[in-house]
Amino acid sequence: MSTLLEVSGVSVSFDGFRAINNLSFRIADAEMRAVIGPNGAGKTTFMDIVTGKTKPDEGRVLWGEKSVSLLKMSEAKIAQAGVGRKFQKPTVFEDQSVQENLLMALKKPRGWFPVLSYRPSGEDLAKVATLANDIGLGDALLRKSGELSHGQKQWLEIGILLAQEPRLLLVDEPAAGMTPEEREKTTDILVEAARTRAVVVVEHDMEFVRRLNCKVTVLHEGSVLAEGSLDHVTSNQDVIDVYLGR
Ligand code: ADP
Repeated sequence: MSTLLEVSGVSVSFDGFRAINNLSFRIADAEMRAVIGPNGAGKTTFMDIVTGKTKPDEGRVLWGEKSVSLLKMSEAKIAQAGVGRKFQKPTVFEDQSVQENLLMALKKPRGWFPVLSYRPSGEDLAKVATLANDIGLGDALLRKSGELSHGQKQWLEIGILLAQEPRLLLVDEPAAGMTPEEREKTTDILVEAARTRAVVVVEHDMEFVRRLNCKVTVLHEGSVLAEGSLDHVTSNQDVIDVYLGR
């Protein structure tokens, strides 16, 4: 698989404190990757760098076949280039149905702007129906989003991001606060999403990470401490020491 995102030698300091320290990280097209690490390891800052919210002091962040640098691009431009990010708190429109939320999120052609008389095309409705199925909300298309469970709202948020057709989806603790059944379903949704785009999941719950069945990157003090299968990284002595706080 070709490289989609390449972060190399990136460092970021906040008031002299190195939150990210010479970090190198590579994601292939349509790859699923879990990122774990203790609190303060740099996971959020890493995502902030990829989305352009935080600009590194040094290093390179390259994107796509043409290895375009993301460093000079605004957050909006980076999102347009295909980087989507899901935060923990869903931001769905509660008064709108699942269908309306997804329709509003669909990627629009350049120059498109919303008008009051907007009527979705058959094609858009079909896209949204497929998307709703992919996120386990096929039967809830016409329900108001405010009536959905916490887990279903999280899935809708994933659907809203997928509607924008990202090539890379960054997801922060997608299973937080969910029931065991919802967690399982969330794994299925993310695995399905990663068939056609790269998905990077930051997660604390090791059982959840195990079910993703993907390569794992362990961050510690702003650098990669270990990388490989979950069994490989969790048997690494450095990782064990970090998690046990030695
Ligand atoms: P994680 O998400 O793995 O818990 P973070 O990326 O949030 O880690 O933070 C990494 C380190 O950088 C932490 O020590 C945190 O306190 C520090 N940090 C993050 N953002 C800022 C900021 N805006 N100002 C100062 N320190 C920060």
